Amino acid sequence: MATESPATRRVQVAEHPRLLKLKEMFNSKFGSIPKFYVRAPGRVNIIGEHIDYCGYSVLPMAVEQDVLIAVEPVKTYALQLANTNPLYPDFSTSANNVQIDKTKPLWHNYFLCGLKGIQEHFGLSNLTGMNCLVDGNIPPSSGLSSSSALVCCAGLVTLTVLGRSLSKVELAEICAKSERYIGTEGGGMDQSISFLAEEGTAKLIEFSPLRATDVKLPSGAVFVIANSCVEMNKAATSHFNIRVMECRLAAKLLAKYKSLQWDKVLRLEEVQAKLGISPEEMLSVTEDALHPEPYNPEEICRCLGISLEELRTQILSPNTQDGIILHIPQCCDEIFMSAHLQTLSAGKACVQRGCASAPV
Ligand code: ADP
Ligand code: MG
Repeated sequence: MATESPATRRVQVAEHPRLLKLKEMFNSKFGSIPKFYVRAPGRVNIIGEHIDYCGYSVLPMAVEQDVLIAVEPVKTYALQLANTNPLYPDFSTSANNVQIDKTKPLWHNYFLCGLKGIQEHFGLSNLTGMNCLVDGNIPPSSGLSSSSALVCCAGLVTLTVLGRSLSKVELAEICAKSERYIGTEGGGMDQSISFLAEEGTAKLIEFSPLRATDVKLPSGAVFVIANSCVEMNKAATSHFNIRVMECRLAAKLLAKYKSLQWDKVLRLEEVQAKLGISPEEMLSVTEDALHPEPYNPEEICRCLGISLEELRTQILSPNTQDGIILHIPQCCDEIFMSAHLQTLSAGKACVQRGCASAPV
C-alpha cells in the first residue's frame, strides 16, 4: 500500500456519459480532444473530528462524489483551466513562478496548490503546460472536502503530464503540504483518504509516518450523509485556522507546563507521546495547566515568555494574527475526548462524537 502508485485504467469514453460530456465540452473549449482523465474523490469522516491537525488518527472513507479533470498536455509553458460549472471562471497563466493568493481563495488557486506541490517536489520551476477542464460534483464548502479533491486531482494531473511517478502516500503528503498554500492549516486527512481510499472499506489513517489500515464496512450498510446546506469556506475566513492555532498553542502551553522543549512542538499528540500518557490523562493535565476562561494573546506571551511579535510571526498563521481570543481549554477537552473515542474504537465504527460547530 505505502509504495503503490494511483491506479490507471483504459476506458471507452463513449460508454461513460459523464466522460463523454466532458470530452465534448473540452473540444468546444480548447478545439482538441483530452489525452487522459484524472479523478479524486471527496470524503466523509466517521470518527475523529478536527483531530488530524493535532496528530491524532482519524477514520474517513471516500464518497462517490469527486473531481474529474480532462487533460491535454501542451508543449508550451502555458496553463489553461476551465470548469464545467459557470460559477468558476476560466483561468490561464504562463508565469514561471506560480503565485497563490492566500487572501482570495479563487477556485483556480486550489488547482495551483496541487500543481506547485508536484513541481516543487521535483525541483521544477517552469510551468507544466496543459489544458484542463474540471468537473466536480462534491458540494463545495460543505465538509466533504471538495477543496482537497481538487488539489489532489491537480497534483495527479501534473504528475501524469510530467511523466513521473510517485506512491499514493507520497502524493498525499505532498498535497497535504501544498494545500496549505491557500492559507488553511489542515492536518492531512483529506488528501490521505482521497489518494488511499478503496471501495468497500473505510481507512484508519495515522500520521508521522502516514499509514492507512482497512476498516471493513459492514456489508449492506448504508451511510446517509445529510447536507445542512450551511457553507463554510475554510480559506475565506479565519474560523478553521483559529481552531488549529488554539490546538497549536495548547500543545505549546502544555509542553511548557510539563517542562518539555515547547518551541518545536506543534501538535497535541506530540506532547502526549512525549509524556507517555493516554488522552484521558491529557485531560487532567489540561485541567491542571490551563484555566477555563479564554486566553488573550498577551497572556499566552507571558506564559511562553515570548513577545507579541514572536507569537504573530513565528506561531500564528497570517489570518489569525490580529486580535484573536483563544478558547484553548474547551478545544483541548473536545480534542482529547475525540482522541479517546478514537483509541477506544481502535478503528472500529462506533458512535461519532463530532466536535465541530460548523461544517469543516
Ligand atoms: P470543502 O469542505 O468542500 O473542502 P472548502 O471551503 O475547503 O470546502 O473549499 C471549497 C472551495 O473549493 C470552493 O470555494 C472552490 O474554490 C473549490 N472547489 C470545490 N469544488 C470545486 C469545483 N467543482 N470546481 C472548482 N473549484 C471547486
Ligand atoms: Mg476543504
